[in-house]
Amino acid sequence: MFDIGLNLTSSQFAKDRDEIVARAFAAGVKGLLLTGTNLHESEQARLLASRYEHCWSTAGVHPHDSSQWTHESADELYALAKMPEVVAIGECGLDFNRNFSTPEEQERAFTAQLAVAAELGMPVFMHCRDAHDRFLALLDPWLDKLPGAVLHCFTGSRQEALDCLQRGLYLGITGWVCDERRGLELRELLPAIPADRLLVETDAPYLLPRDMKPKPASRRNEPAYLGHIVERVAQWREEDPHWLAAQTDENVRRLFGITI
Ligand SMILES: [Zn+2]
Repeated sequence: MFDIGLNLTSSQFAKDRDEIVARAFAAGVKGLLLTGTNLHESEQARLLASRYEHCWSTAGVHPHDSSQWTHESADELYALAKMPEVVAIGECGLDFNRNFSTPEEQERAFTAQLAVAAELGMPVFMHCRDAHDRFLALLDPWLDKLPGAVLHCFTGSRQEALDCLQRGLYLGITGWVCDERRGLELRELLPAIPADRLLVETDAPYLLPRDMKPKPASRRNEPAYLGHIVERVAQWREEDPHWLAAQTDENVRRLFGITI
């Protein structure tokens, strides 16, 4: 099993990154994709990916950081994306829930990053919150120019999932689905996701699964807990967790073109 969303550059991991990575592999995780959320963090994620075995990174600008996107950003992103550790453009997309950057800034940065991905023939790692229609409207013209795309930490409705699947997107499922307060709709639509479109991720240090027993002392999530998410997702899909883990590994190889 492979964690496609780990924010290893987070300051929450500053004191014990080596242990976090070691615990993940000891728990059976086979590989990690480290999320880059702006150009500086993407370089940090790349450096971490080069430091550890079985780690890769994304390079991009998160919707929250989209106000930082300038004329030079595309050139910087090209340079980063050509490094061997970087296997996807992102995290990029739209987040109209919090609007830390204006919608206009987010749309401009998202489209510019889709253009970079298309130019380089790289998959994209995307984020979308409360922006489904605009997200698809901006993405649609690029889909036939991209080798693949994942909507990470999918938390939308059944119809939104179907819209994404119909376009050939992969969906990244996090421990959000373990949350009995807000994950129920997602839980119910899990069986509608074809096994060859499903990816799993912790999005650590965020989104600690709420139903872990015993509850970890710290509220911090970490990639060693990926197995818990895989077990729950398999249970709600009525599948064997080992089979599902192998399927998602196959999807990682296909989408990101990496050997695990
Ligand atoms: Zn995200």
